[in-house]
Amino acid sequence: MLRFEDILEKVESYHPGLDVDLLRRAYVVSAHEHRNQLRSSGEPYLVHPLAVAMTLAEMKLDDASIAAGLLHDVLEDTTVSKERLAGLFGADVAHLVDGVTKIGKYAFTSREAQQAETFRKMLLAMTGDLRVILVKLADRLHNMRTLEHVPEPKQRATASETMEIYAPLANRLGMGKMKGELEDLSFRFLHPEEFTALRAAVDERIAVSAANVEKIRQELVAKTKAMGIEAEITGRVKRYWSIRQKLIRQAIPLEQLYDVLAFRVLVDAVPDCYTVLGIVHQAWRPVPGRIKDYIAMPKRNFYQSLHTTLVPEGAPPFEVQIRTREMDLIAENGIAAHWKYKEGKLVRTDARHEEHVGVLRQILETTKDVSDPREFLSSLRIDLYPDDVYTFSPKGAVYAFPRGATPVDFAYRVHTDVGHHCVGARVNGRLVPLKTPLANGDIVEILTAPASQPSRDWLSFALTSRARNKIRAFIHTGEKEKSIEIGRRLLERELKKWKKSLVKLLEARAFDPLFADFGAGKVDDLIADVGYGKITPRALVARLLPETASEAVPPPPSKVSAISSVVRRVLPFGAAAGIRVKGENDLLATLARCCQPVPGDDIVGYVTRGRGVSVHATTCPNVRSLLFDPSREIPVEWEAAKGASVTVGLEIHTEDRQGMLAHITRVLSAANSNIRSIEARTSRDGNATIEASVTTPDRRHLERLLVSLRALPGVTDVRRKLRDSDAEVG
Ligand code: MN
Repeated sequence: MLRFEDILEKVESYHPGLDVDLLRRAYVVSAHEHRNQLRSSGEPYLVHPLAVAMTLAEMKLDDASIAAGLLHDVLEDTTVSKERLAGLFGADVAHLVDGVTKIGKYAFTSREAQQAETFRKMLLAMTGDLRVILVKLADRLHNMRTLEHVPEPKQRATASETMEIYAPLANRLGMGKMKGELEDLSFRFLHPEEFTALRAAVDERIAVSAANVEKIRQELVAKTKAMGIEAEITGRVKRYWSIRQKLIRQAIPLEQLYDVLAFRVLVDAVPDCYTVLGIVHQAWRPVPGRIKDYIAMPKRNFYQSLHTTLVPEGAPPFEVQIRTREMDLIAENGIAAHWKYKEGKLVRTDARHEEHVGVLRQILETTKDVSDPREFLSSLRIDLYPDDVYTFSPKGAVYAFPRGATPVDFAYRVHTDVGHHCVGARVNGRLVPLKTPLANGDIVEILTAPASQPSRDWLSFALTSRARNKIRAFIHTGEKEKSIEIGRRLLERELKKWKKSLVKLLEARAFDPLFADFGAGKVDDLIADVGYGKITPRALVARLLPETASEAVPPPPSKVSAISSVVRRVLPFGAAAGIRVKGENDLLATLARCCQPVPGDDIVGYVTRGRGVSVHATTCPNVRSLLFDPSREIPVEWEAAKGASVTVGLEIHTEDRQGMLAHITRVLSAANSNIRSIEARTSRDGNATIEASVTTPDRRHLERLLVSLRALPGVTDVRRKLRDSDAEVG
């Protein structure tokens, strides 16, 4: 049985200055707390924490991690609390043990297992400290090594979780040795017959070629030596699980698998790797397409090596893996191999790691300036996926989003219809605005209403391209319908001058020959283009009825342009009299309903799809959210007043007294303002709010009006009303 002293010895061999006292105390507490417990094997429970601590010592981790290994099951299986652990061993150890305990509590149902990658990421993001994962992996490794002692259903469940979650996690962290052993152990319990058969077949094949293997190895040794390269060469059999995966992937029997047998050549320096590659290619014929340079192009988990497959005369092919000793250390031990103790300090082994992108870079950057080993490792708080946020549906499905995503993104991820009809969201049980950014671990419930529709406003906070595209598509469809309607009215009006009926022309498919000329695919596109203002109705009719082209068009009845008079009828909110779009006299211009600018206000135009130019006050908050698309901004200016007037909303706060409404209407009519609507509400506290919609020719007039209203006795406040409707935006 493994003794505590073995662990101490191991740790002292690489880290002489370690906190022996901490480890000893951890051992004593663990031994005491687990004293009456047994493993399924019948052994004392203490065997397990000792084995876990030993694995961590082999990974050369710090004393806090090894202490956590000794104590990793006390929170779960004994009466010791996290507070007591913190009191005895410090917050660091308590945090690690708590993290390991938490991971153990996740139940991986089959549905969740399908999202294994998400879960792996989530575990990392939520535990926040890489050492928690390393302790958990060491724990799992020993449980897998002793899995034969537990009942069969538990074997399968544990093995499948290991295969789904922990082996890929070890792989992600570049821990090749851990990953390989976890996979082979899982394989054995998940597919017992297949495992036994494959192991027998592989062993037999190796036995047959044993002499040959040694011959090739000797040749490799001789050839590298002749070139003056100090190389360590081992022949080895690949892992059973990886052989099985290859056989399935390539759909071949074992006899045809090239690289059951692999030689590993370890050298001191990178140039030696390439020299050795040259040597073996001279000695044996390489299989084309099977030379892989993972030194120049490391794998995502930083694995580096050269691979090549060779075909000797009259013998089965074999693979050669060539790498430096340091690359090998990293390939075997992964993330834990990037540090070593030097004069009692934990330091990075190689400056080249700075070049590594992704995971390690983030770790290294956050820990760059730390020299004390304990501080160094405890600052190894990993946000391995710092930009991702993991959220849950109320039923426990996991959804990962980029940081900054909102309930709208969540709704569209669940289903397009959920997005389209989303009206609100509960996060962790509380109602929140739809633009609230989601945080790690949030449980998100989307509220929907069948009649509700996406709002253009959502585009200012929806983050994922999926949500944005769906919202845009929805709005675009709606706008197209509106444009078709406007286009039809414009065309009807133009055709009426020539005593033609649009309906009849459409029935006769009279527009079809014109599609190509106007770049339209079908008649709706053509009519929508008229509605958008891309094609003038005159141009279209002139082409449709060539006899009309040369004839003088009857002049419009007044100075108001034909378009704006039509638009005034078509658009519910009326055309903007007295506004000119600079340099674009034909464009439809409408005053935004949200801010209702009046002549004299600073204004800015936005080119909408289907509604011409929408004119906002520059102070309008909606217009600022539109700046995401500056190409649609267009300068507009007020034209000299021509007796036109615009409608503006007012909100008048008053005391609730007799005749208030009458006083207000009198002031309004004295100012020559027409009242479009007026409505009063009283509240219990004796105040009233009067909402009025009135006309005004310009800003100066409006300001005078506001002054007169404010001067009325009983009036407490008067404001221009900003609508919250976003119907106008865009
Ligand atoms: Mn355990």
